[in-house]
Parts: sequence; structure tokens; C-alpha cells
Amino acid sequence: MSRIAQAIRGAMLLDFVGAFWLALKYYMRPKFTVNYPFEKGPLSPRFRGEHALRRYPNGEERCIACKLCEAVCPAQAITIEAEPREDGSRRTTKYDIDMTKCIYCGFCQEACPVDAIVEGPNFEFATETREELFYDKARLLENGDRWEREIAKNLELDAPYR
Ligand code: SF4
Ligand code: SF4
Repeated sequence: MSRIAQAIRGAMLLDFVGAFWLALKYYMRPKFTVNYPFEKGPLSPRFRGEHALRRYPNGEERCIACKLCEAVCPAQAITIEAEPREDGSRRTTKYDIDMTKCIYCGFCQEACPVDAIVEGPNFEFATETREELFYDKARLLENGDRWEREIAKNLELDAPYR
């Protein structure tokens, strides 16, 4: 074997060893990716995800039908109708959000005087049809019931900054 061929072989071996150590080094380091959807990254308490209507612990709806959220929504995504109840309290008879219009600005949540409408931590609500993104009051209350624990904790964490 000529000297040139020997030199080339030596260089290739060095390259291989270098690449091997490099691979080993990165293999041992903590991974930057997560195995979604089985693992999920951390979310800020201010994360603005899927909307939810909350209740008080006794089950009563928080929303008092003041319509501030409807008025402030820049996308005009919220539609509310309301009537007084027999006990004189005012509650919504219709609370719709067109999620295809929503721009997730969070103004509805900011405007609500009783923390009724919130943007919860859920971001996994993709649908196959447009119609499924027209949320009604039942759907929003269901979201509230489902996510109340996380929502309440996030609001508590964010309270000192509001
Ligand atoms: S997040 Fe913004 S755009 Fe979406 S419903 Fe609330 S106010 Fe409207
Ligand atoms: S969700 Fe809040 S801001 Fe909207 S109508 Fe109800 S009480 Fe008013």
C-alpha cells in the first residue's frame, strides 16, 4: 500500500472515531424534543387556549350576562342573548363563540368582571369540520367543568400581575 493510501485510511479512521464520539456525546445529553402527544412541554399560566365558561363551586354559572365580552371582542366572535330568571337574576339564554373567527386576543377574559369566560389551557381542539368550531353555551360550560382545576390554578398564579 502506498504512503498516500495509508494516509487517507488513517484520516478516514480518525474521522470515524471523531464522528463516533460526537454521536455518543449528543446521545448522552438531555433530549430537546418531547415525545408528543405522550409528553407535553410546560405551559404558561397565561396561555390562551380553548375558551371555557366557569361555574361557582355550588354549580351556579358565573356569567351574569353583562355582555362586556361580546362588546370588546374585536373579531365579533361572541353572540349572547339573555333574559332575567324568575329569581330576578340575569343569565344568558345563548352564549356562542365562533372559534373560526377568534384571534385568541384574550380581551373577553380581561373584560369579564366575574372571571366567567376564560381561555383555558387546552390547545388540542382541532376538528375535521368547520361546524364543530361553532361553540354554544353547553359546550363552553362543559369545557369549564372539565378544566376548572387548571383554570383556577392559572388564575391564582397570574393574579399578582393583573
Ligand atoms: S379571545 Fe379575543 S377574539 Fe377570541 S372571543 Fe375572546 S375577545 Fe374575541
Ligand atoms: S362572560 Fe363575563 S363579560 Fe361575558 S357576559 Fe358573562 S359576565 Fe359578562
